Amino acid sequence: MLNKTRPVASIAINSVALNPVQTTIIARYYALRVASIAENDSGSKPKPGEISLAHHGVLFLDELPEFSRHVLEVLRQPLETGEIYLARASHERRYPAQFQLVAAMNPCPCGHLGDPRQRCQCTASQIQRYQARLSGPLLDRIDLQVEVPALPPEQLTAQTQGESSEAVRERVMAARERQMARGALNSQLSGKALEAACALNDEERAWLAGVLEKLKLSARAYHRVLRVALTLADLQGEPKPTQPHLIEAIGYRQLDRMLKGA
Ligand SMILES: [Zn+2]
Repeated sequence: MLNKTRPVASIAINSVALNPVQTTIIARYYALRVASIAENDSGSKPKPGEISLAHHGVLFLDELPEFSRHVLEVLRQPLETGEIYLARASHERRYPAQFQLVAAMNPCPCGHLGDPRQRCQCTASQIQRYQARLSGPLLDRIDLQVEVPALPPEQLTAQTQGESSEAVRERVMAARERQMARGALNSQLSGKALEAACALNDEERAWLAGVLEKLKLSARAYHRVLRVALTLADLQGEPKPTQPHLIEAIGYRQLDRMLKGA
């Protein structure tokens, strides 16, 4: 659990692919100083901030819309380039910042929007203001957006056995090997290499463009959808993504669709 008195935690967690992975957890209680997320600005001796401390690890932001808009916009550059560039009057700095962003948010300020068991107390404008704190360009850069409904208590306590971590690990390692055999992990493929690996035919390309336009998704989202679809194909041992993979990848853009009213 996140602790208000120790607002930032950095822990090592076991990943199914590489272990352990360093995870930096930041709760909204901590995100009071804008600079603290990008750089520990301590006068003449600037130090890398939490974004760089999460390099080659996971950066987990809890209650995402509670972070200031400025802090959220600062994330866009490192998510795209893998580094953070800071220009101050006295100096310029470049820090490495290749991290996996994981974030959580409620659907509305009270947290019950869409919950069949408890009524949402928020007004339409409160909900709109809350959701609008996440900009379109930031959402574009989040590949997997998944709604997790609240579970009824009887399901929470039910002893259901899911797939074992070992089985998932085997599948992930096989997918990574497939990607390395292509020359790079999917996250590192250039747009051109990604298109070549996906090898969509004219019909598939036209279909995808039409769907993205209908859902009001940006041109950037096109490559993001391709990247996820290719990874889904890799996980199933398929040589290239097919229409079901593309549909599933688009299905993971729930926030885009919800906020754009598509
Ligand atoms: Zn609400």
